Order: sequence, then structure tokens, then C-alpha cells
Amino acid sequence: MLDGHDTRRAGRRTLSEWPLTLDLAALAEGGWRPTPFRQFVLKIHSRCDLACTYCYMYEMADQSWRSRPLRMASDVVEAVAARIAEHVRGHGLTSVEVILHGGEPLLVAPEEIGRLVGTVRAAVDAQVGVTVQTNALRLDRTYLGLFDRLDIGVGVSLDGGQQDHDRSRRTADGRGSHHKVAAGLRLLTEPPFDRLFRGLLCTVDLRNDPLETYQALLAFGPPTIDFLLPHGTWSQPPPGLGRDDGAAPYADWLIEIFDRWYAAPARPAGVRLFDEIIYLLVGGRSASEQIGLSPTAMVVVETDGEIEQSDILKSTYAGAPSTGLHVFRDSFDDVLRLPSIAARQIGWEALSATCRACRVSQVCGGGHYAHRYRPGSGFLNPSVYCADLLRLITHVARTIRRDITALRKDIR
Ligand code: SF4
Repeated sequence: MLDGHDTRRAGRRTLSEWPLTLDLAALAEGGWRPTPFRQFVLKIHSRCDLACTYCYMYEMADQSWRSRPLRMASDVVEAVAARIAEHVRGHGLTSVEVILHGGEPLLVAPEEIGRLVGTVRAAVDAQVGVTVQTNALRLDRTYLGLFDRLDIGVGVSLDGGQQDHDRSRRTADGRGSHHKVAAGLRLLTEPPFDRLFRGLLCTVDLRNDPLETYQALLAFGPPTIDFLLPHGTWSQPPPGLGRDDGAAPYADWLIEIFDRWYAAPARPAGVRLFDEIIYLLVGGRSASEQIGLSPTAMVVVETDGEIEQSDILKSTYAGAPSTGLHVFRDSFDDVLRLPSIAARQIGWEALSATCRACRVSQVCGGGHYAHRYRPGSGFLNPSVYCADLLRLITHVARTIRRDITALRKDIR
């Protein structure tokens, strides 16, 4: 029997914070098999040119960025490429996805990004889709020309109109960033670069009007919008939560957008959270960490080559995403054998008793893993967003049930 923690770096954490115990041998005997990684998040730069107030990397519990090198060095890039290639061969994968992340990945020079992507693609005998997730401050024709040549998709973080975006997404000396982001987005959304645009990532801020936010995002014509709930835990609740008064302000905020989005005759953009909920309600599997019970197939490599779990776990406690493994020494299969990774892949088995008894658990899946954290009981809790998830899912379910009932009557 193994504890859910890898204990090699136990100095940065306490076992009492992780009560979930997993018997991997018993799971394997029962037919469970680890899901190979298909998404590799490469932290190619560990710093950022913004100082967003809600940032999980710099402003929350884990401060490991302070000891990381600024950039991913070439020997680390070669080792990552070789490890991805090994994983692809071992599992017979035909395609994988590499996400260039940071900090801010565009703090790395274009030619260096070109070399990095070339190294990975040359090593891996499978289709390697590459996306960069950027704050767009430095997104210019030089970067876009490179992305166009190498077929690198671009996702941009934008929180709404100028005032709403600049509320949180500011430079360290307090200047807003919207004007630069908008300039980058205007270049990205014009031919020939528009084919590279993958979508907008928007962190929900209850102080911003939901419909104004939605319209400000739509103004850039994104193919998809990903609304993210600000990260928080039971010990550090997100803004507006933690009063135990039954309020669900994030659901109310999102429902205003859902109703507008759903009622539109031709939906102008996919909204990932809503699409995922609808898909799960009709029996599909989720492809998002935010919701559902699908096994996580994503792994992170830091600038120094350390292999980590989803870095959103940095919002829980110091060292939470750490695996203790490194691309110089360890394979991605070694990562798959860690109980802490298995806990992210066994879905229902890793839910708290409250979630297991919940009527929307097959859709909700306990929400984002990081949002379940409570000191003392670890991740074996409902989400800190429980009331919001329940209200949002119930609203979406009632809306589509109404339409399906009407449709059934029509086709009788
Ligand atoms: S709504 Fe709450 S209790 Fe139900 S599965 Fe989600 S987090 Fe768990």
C-alpha cells in the first residue's frame, strides 16, 4: 500500500495532508491501466512580464519558481524530446500535443522557440501539435511569422474589456496591459495569421459584468472561449466564496453568459465549459481538467527539467505539483506509476463520499482537483466551488432537457 504522496521530497509537504491511499497493485488486478500522457506542457520560461493578482504561479502557496532557471536549456529540451519520443513509442501513440507555457513563453526569443519545436518534432515519430499560451504582450509579426511557418497555434489570455482586463492583469509597476494584448490580438486575427488562433482564456472576476465580458471577448472572434474559475481551496477560498451561505456567485455569473450563448441562433464561439457540460450530460467524456471524471493525460516539465503534475496545484500548498522526477533520470512511464498521478486517473475512485453521493457527480467529477484541497483531508473533499458547480450543471441540464423534450414532441 502506497501513500498518495511521492515521499522523496517529503520535506516540502506533510503526509497528513494526503489521506488518500492507493493500492496500485489491487487497481491493476481489477483491470485498471494508467492512461498515457498525450499533452506535454513545457515551461520554457519561468518568469512573466505581468504580475496578475490571481496568478497561481507567483501569488499562491507554491513559490518554487524562485529557484528555477529562467529558460529551458538546450540539454533539457533534448532530454524532454527524447522522453516524449520514448513515451510515444512505448504506447503506440500517433499524435501528441505540446503546449509552450511559462511564466510567459514569449520571453523566449523566436529563434530559440523555433529550435525547441524543431528538436521535439525531429525526435518524435508521431504528429506533434504545438500551441503557445501567451499573455500576447510581445505577440508581433516576428513571432507570428515563426508560428505560421511551424504551424504553432496561439491561445491568448484576456479577461474582458480594457477596464475589466486591467483590473487584474497589470505589470509589476501597476500599468494595465489591455492595449498591448488588443494590438497582438488584432495581428493574430487578421490573415494570414488568423488560422493560428486557438482561442481566449478568461479568468472569471465577479466584479466584471458577465455579458460585457462575453461581448468584449467575442469582439476578437475567438474560435473558443475558456472561462476559468479563479484558483482557490477550502483554506484559501476564491474571492466571493467561503461564507457558507448557500450563495453560488460564480454559477450566477456564468449562467448569464450561458443563457445568451445558448439562445444565439448561430453560436459565435465555442465556450469550453458549457460545451463540456452538455457533452457530459449526454454521456460523453470530458477533455478538460475543470469538470468530469476523465483521467488526466497531461504532464508538465519545468525549465530545469523537473517533471510535475498540473501546475494549478501550486495554488494548494508548497510542493504540491512535484513528482520528484526529472527528464534526465526518469521516463514519463515512471511518472505514470506514481500514486499521486494515479489519483488523477481513477476518476470516481478518487472522489470524496459527498461527491460520490451527489446527483451531478458524473458530470461535475468533483470539479478541478486543486479546488478540492483542504489542509488535513487533502483532496478528498468536494470542490470549494461545489454550490456553483451544482447550480450551473443543474441549469444547463434543465435547459437542454427542455429542448430535447420539445424536439421529441416535434418528431413524434
Ligand atoms: S457538485 Fe459538489 S458534491 Fe457534487 S460532485 Fe461536484 S463538488 Fe462534488
